[in-house]
Amino acid sequence: MVGIYAKDLNPREATREFFAELFGANLIASALLPARKSGLNQIFPALLSSKDSLDETFPFAPVMPLSTAVQLSKITRFANPTNTVAVLLRPCESRAAVELVKLRQISLDNVLLITRDCPGTVEPETFEEKASDTLPGFSDFTEEQIRPVCRMCEHPTAPVADINIGTFGADGGIILEAKTDKGEEILKHIALDAELSDTSARESALKSEAEKRTAFMEKNLAELKKEVAGIEGLVKFFAKCVDCHNCRTMCPVCYCNECFFDSATFHFEGPRYEEWTQRRGILAMPRDEILFHLGRMNHIGLSCVACGMCEQACPHDIRVGQLFTLISTTAQKELDIHAGRSLTDPLPLATFREDEFTEMGEEKV
Ligand code: SF4
Ligand code: SF4
Ligand code: SF4
Repeated sequence: MVGIYAKDLNPREATREFFAELFGANLIASALLPARKSGLNQIFPALLSSKDSLDETFPFAPVMPLSTAVQLSKITRFANPTNTVAVLLRPCESRAAVELVKLRQISLDNVLLITRDCPGTVEPETFEEKASDTLPGFSDFTEEQIRPVCRMCEHPTAPVADINIGTFGADGGIILEAKTDKGEEILKHIALDAELSDTSARESALKSEAEKRTAFMEKNLAELKKEVAGIEGLVKFFAKCVDCHNCRTMCPVCYCNECFFDSATFHFEGPRYEEWTQRRGILAMPRDEILFHLGRMNHIGLSCVACGMCEQACPHDIRVGQLFTLISTTAQKELDIHAGRSLTDPLPLATFREDEFTEMGEEKV
């Protein structure tokens, strides 16, 4: 089912109204939505127990301080909520959630997965600078202020959801689309203004957005590829890296309780440092940052959803999210894997195909 909802309201108000209806009809017991931190100009996910707090929510705030997929993991990883919780996710958050379901870090039992179209986000500092009593919307920012990973994000709408809230192609209000049986069942209780039999305006808006982003992506990543070519390029790219691991901490698909790069494997005694220094004459410290990034690419490249949380968290503005986007999209395309595309896709690192890369000389044994 696809329909227009609250056509006289803007997307923010229409989405609040939709969630109010979900609460009012007892279809959900709680909801996880972006909300304004009390008295501040910052937006963080917040868990609401009733429609009374919906005025504090900003479902379309163009800023993403963290991936809500990680918060959904916190809520469901050890035991699911007893009653239905609705969670509103951007496409990259939904795709990260799909990967975390496959990695058994999220369970969708008692979760109503609602996604919304995303035109992009700005850095939290850029958002805060523009905010006053009224919080800024996407149109308050220039194209250049939108995060580069968003400008090349191939997913303006989410592949997996129970219900998607569409804004591309909407002419007032929002477009509600049921994408699962659960979503269909819920929408039967919602007062749509009209069912949408012709979705061509939406499809054409999504297509032109995707084309614009692909053009930017191709240009940007081609330049980046040249820049990081060879070990010298990579060393230069990460020259300012202080090995703080913030990029890993904020990555929604880096989920291990103990990271290999924090393990005893990387704890060395003084004599080892002396030995290395004697051998080389000079030892740059910290000494494992390139290995850390290569290891992380190896570990999560096939689950990377190109959200750019890593880049946003970097204290030295290293374009680590763009680099991971370059590596992960290339690797995923080569292997016909699309992180976050489907809950039923197998986990890449747990799957063995005998007939990969035959064009490179790999042979079945
Ligand atoms: S990466 Fe894509 S889905 Fe995520 S915030 Fe940017 S545009 Fe939106
Ligand atoms: S590596 Fe960076 S871009 Fe990829 S999923 Fe993790 S945080 Fe997002
Ligand atoms: S956040 Fe930046 S400085 Fe810290 S480890 Fe990652 S790339 Fe290096």
